Amino acid sequence: MHQKLPVEIDPFRLAKSGLILEGKLPLVSMPRLSNSLQDSSGHVDVKMSFDVDKILGSPIMIGEFKAQLPLLCERCSEPMLFEANIKSSLAIINSERKIEGLDGLYEPWIITSDDPVILSSIVEDELILAIPLVPKHEHACLPKEAWFSGEEQIDDEKPISPFAVLSALKKD
Ligand SMILES: [Zn+2]
Repeated sequence: MHQKLPVEIDPFRLAKSGLILEGKLPLVSMPRLSNSLQDSSGHVDVKMSFDVDKILGSPIMIGEFKAQLPLLCERCSEPMLFEANIKSSLAIINSERKIEGLDGLYEPWIITSDDPVILSSIVEDELILAIPLVPKHEHACLPKEAWFSGEEQIDDEKPISPFAVLSALKKD
């Protein structure tokens, strides 16, 4: 079932009603994220469950965001797919002063304005946070000799045994 996600949401009201939003968002709808992607033709699977945490008495959103993000490997400069599989627990609060009450269970989602929230922007924020600072293929994508270039020389000497170190210490 691929229902359309609303463009704008009122998270406080969604939490009060305990609603679940589920659907797909195109990556092109997220310009800040698209900037760091090689290709933004894909989409994000979005599931946002809104509720009220009874103990904290705070509106919350449990988000699940899945996407394959085309990045550039910093090691071999070839394209790679980063599997983003994000689960986030956010407490929807209207003041930074309430962050301390979250007990570390939730990340704060601070909404101070009465303007409607753009749904894709919160998904975009979560994806941007998940992207590795230095994206790299999980496999060794360069041949071994290419790892040592120029000044870095492979040391061919035998490894120093711990006993040799000990006897050197004892000499003093
Ligand atoms: Zn690579």
